[in-house]
Amino acid sequence: MSNKDFRFLEIPRTPPRAVPVTIRVLGYGEISGDFAPEAAAGQAERCIDCGNPYCEWECPVHNYIPNWLKLVQDGRLFEAATLMHETNPLPEICGRVCPQDRLCEGACTLEQGDFGAVTIGSIERWVTDEAFRQGWRPDLSSVRETGRRVAVVGAGPAGLSCADRLRRAGIAVDVFDRQREIGGLLTFGIPPFKLDKSVVRTRREVLEGMGVTFRLGIDIGRDIAFETLLEDYDAVFIGTGAYRFVDGELPGRELDGVHDALPFLIANVDRLLDDAPVPAALNLAGKHVVVLGGGDTGMDCNRTAIRLGAASVTCVYRRDEANMPGSKREVGYSREEGVRFLFHRQPLAVLGSEGKVRAVRIVSTELVEGAHGRAQLRHVEGSETELRADVVIQAFGFRPSPPAWCAEHGIALDSSGRILAGQHGRLPFQTDHPQVFAGGDNMRGADLVVRAVHDGREAAASIARMLAEATVQAECAA
Ligand SMILES: Cc1cc2nc3c(=O)[nH]c(=O)nc-3n(C[C@H](O)[C@H](O)[C@H](O)COP(=O)(O)OP(=O)(O)OC[C@H]3O[C@@H](n4cnc5c(N)ncnc54)[C@H](O)[C@@H]3O)c2cc1C
Ligand code: SF4
Repeated sequence: MSNKDFRFLEIPRTPPRAVPVTIRVLGYGEISGDFAPEAAAGQAERCIDCGNPYCEWECPVHNYIPNWLKLVQDGRLFEAATLMHETNPLPEICGRVCPQDRLCEGACTLEQGDFGAVTIGSIERWVTDEAFRQGWRPDLSSVRETGRRVAVVGAGPAGLSCADRLRRAGIAVDVFDRQREIGGLLTFGIPPFKLDKSVVRTRREVLEGMGVTFRLGIDIGRDIAFETLLEDYDAVFIGTGAYRFVDGELPGRELDGVHDALPFLIANVDRLLDDAPVPAALNLAGKHVVVLGGGDTGMDCNRTAIRLGAASVTCVYRRDEANMPGSKREVGYSREEGVRFLFHRQPLAVLGSEGKVRAVRIVSTELVEGAHGRAQLRHVEGSETELRADVVIQAFGFRPSPPAWCAEHGIALDSSGRILAGQHGRLPFQTDHPQVFAGGDNMRGADLVVRAVHDGREAAASIARMLAEATVQAECAA
């Protein structure tokens, strides 16, 4: 190792400074600040190029992390941006929303040695933002058009990633979405304080510059038959997400003041996109809000409720903090912004008076050893209490919501509604209908942006391979 390999001893892990809490809770701006160029290079220098880049393996798209960190150290911004895009079609977005503590940064050798991981996510975000700002764009000058056409259903991260890769393979792409903007949950689920909507708009410009066509406000199945896509295109990619709300079936959930997480978040994003005032249903000024669930969606509801003026926000989760499914960073931000957490509590019912919510009945839980030594949750006898609430937000997660036309076209699903792909000798991400490919939340169940990006990328590779083979066969037959 050279002296340079020990820079982590001199330079502490320093992510960009977050906007102070007192300011950030007043609005919806992204809370993470920007690196100065020399700060990004300094943080990149902390990488010891350990030779076993576990960070790359834990990154679901297997980014070439040490290689682009080296380019950042050397000030080669555009080359770093180009290398990032080789593995990740949406690096500026993953850099913002990935739970890095569970992925790349959690696996960094420096983190294992208690020195603090390299700030991989923040650097990925900074490189892409800065390269775009300075005019860098993907270079498609050597791409040869194949004359093939693919329809992508869903402009979420899976669909966008697939579209990017198809264009790089010289395939024309039309992306259909029922929403008025691209992004899927990037636009209509994840709140702007985590991902500013201008970031998605910039990505739209970049993709359009690459030749991707967006056909928005079109619901496939309602406005255009799926059959028409099969007739008009050489292949179809389905990236329709997972939107079936997991219903905790709590008694009292029909009371006025009970919200499901996603409609609550979407309503707020929708009115922010239109620059509209807060509607009565979202006005939480002076109200006591209880959020049920400990995932990323729950954290987004917590922090949105704070910004909507709630007098208090309490997040109830049935296990302990270590077992929360959400990113530790988001739990930390929630706490900083004033959210109170109640761990080891399970909701039993929503209680009301005159049709409106007044409380949530909760019970304490404990872990006990169950059959075959597996830990199980048990209610603690006599521990039921009432938690005051004017508003309750249910954030228990999502299940796949496959469009009806899947079954009608022989696209097989598993018992929970996930699209099956890559089975029976098919190509990766190819469904039981050979012309149709799928990926993202509709195939995995509710998951992460970066995994949807991975699936879109790999599905595009399978589509390109299938179309290239078909071309060769046609040429041989001619
Ligand atoms: C509130 C919330 C917060 C989250 N926070 C994070 C986070 O911080 N980090 C992270 O990594 N992940 C997060 N996730 C998960 C992440 O957003 C998803 O895993 C990811 O968006 C899935 O991508 P996708 O492309 O499969 O689907 P989606 O993003 O859901 O996109 C699917 C698209 O398909 C469109 N569509 C569906 N059916 C049709 C049809 N018939 N016709 C036309 N269009 C159709 C939809 O309108 C939508 O635009 C969060 C999820 C939620 C709900
Ligand atoms: S894509 Fe996500 S997991 Fe991979 S390097 Fe970037 S922030 Fe880390």
